[in-house]
Amino acid sequence: MANFTGYRCSICGQELGPEDVQYTCPHDGGNLDVILDYDRLRRDVSPGDIRRSAESSIWRYLPLLPVQDPGHLGTPLRAVGWTPLFDLQPIAGKLGLGKLWLKDDGRNPTASFKDRASAITVARAQEIGVDVIVTASTGNAGAALAGMAGAAKMPAVILAPKTAPPAKIAQILIFGARVVLVEGTYDDAFDLTIQAAEKFGWYCRNTGYNPFTAEGKKTAAFEICEQLSIENDGESSGEERWLTPDAVFVSVGDGNIISGLHKGFKDLHTLGWIDTIPRLYGIQSEGSAAIYNAFQAGSEEIQPVSADTLADSISVDQPRDGLRALRAATETGGAYIAVPDSAILEAIAELGREAAVFAEPAGAAAYAGLLAAVEQNFLAEGDRVVVLNTGNGLKDVARAMDAAGEPIVIEPTLKALQSALDVDAKKNGGG
Ligand SMILES: *Cc1c(COP(=O)(O)O)cnc(C)c1O
Ligand SMILES: [Zn+2]
Repeated sequence: MANFTGYRCSICGQELGPEDVQYTCPHDGGNLDVILDYDRLRRDVSPGDIRRSAESSIWRYLPLLPVQDPGHLGTPLRAVGWTPLFDLQPIAGKLGLGKLWLKDDGRNPTASFKDRASAITVARAQEIGVDVIVTASTGNAGAALAGMAGAAKMPAVILAPKTAPPAKIAQILIFGARVVLVEGTYDDAFDLTIQAAEKFGWYCRNTGYNPFTAEGKKTAAFEICEQLSIENDGESSGEERWLTPDAVFVSVGDGNIISGLHKGFKDLHTLGWIDTIPRLYGIQSEGSAAIYNAFQAGSEEIQPVSADTLADSISVDQPRDGLRALRAATETGGAYIAVPDSAILEAIAELGREAAVFAEPAGAAAYAGLLAAVEQNFLAEGDRVVVLNTGNGLKDVARAMDAAGEPIVIEPTLKALQSALDVDAKKNGGG
């Protein structure tokens, strides 16, 4: 908090003080980057200080966050982040990559990457003394806000499209938030939320609107760099510098996760804790590809689409953090890639089978994008790559079953089991 010095608009570049503004640029509505006191941080904090932290959560990065410690020890609010980085060596070999890791953010308290943003916005809400926090959501942001606000005993209101997967709605209800389903799209819910926040004096967490969400999401970049340095040299490493991969793959809807990752890598680079910033690859569904379209056109004008994809978490007509998300790829030498829904379903099955990771469609989309990138020669032989799984497969079991196929049902006899196994063996080409 002491290191939070203000905001910078991503469109006009104007700097604003911490008290000047709450959400977006008053001149042009641009998304605001949070500015930290980097000189002071360079003096006061070292990578080694973080390495010695006993917190196995995003709160180990407290000096690099624009909020105070929110308290609530022993609650799920304190268990966000520090998710595992799995080494997928066999797949790396098959794809001709030097290394491949999967960071599994499906293991967060409410089972998606959104917990990172919701934890920070709840901490912010507490600090500025709001009574109610509200968000629009395709489901995961709502579940995450309901969970994190619940842990902090703060009332939350969630507006989601009626079509959100039932598991996500169940989570919101179970955590005790007030959920209102909208007959309309996520974009409709988004606009309504902003009006409601204004009218009722609620604090609005909306993705790509509230500047603090990206500050939560950047913690995944911190973790990647710190975890790679630990993996490389053992527990005693990472005292001076952390390591980076060559490329990071992440799925993109509003574009706030990829913007947050970019901010995280930039923070570390500005502090001199890492030498390079990885190439960032944003993966969109072909049915929801507004930022991909702009990337292909070489333009910063992002035209809304009429989104239609089975990956509900990245189904977005008008990306609310589109400009920063586009620049996350263009400024790092990365790219945008669009994948069809069929490739997303195949990626769910392959991640489960090959890596024992269960991803929801939007999570698996990043892996589908990696496969497409290899095919289209986006990657160099020997590249060291991180893929993010952003959501747990249990959130959308219907789509998982589409990916996995139906199980066999038999009479409970050994004979029936034997013939079922024979049929299965034939289907899988023997053994
Ligand atoms: C929200 C979400 C995304 C996309 O994040 P954006 O910030 O909207 O680009 C991807 N995957 C999952 C599982 C999500 O919940
Ligand atoms: Zn501006």
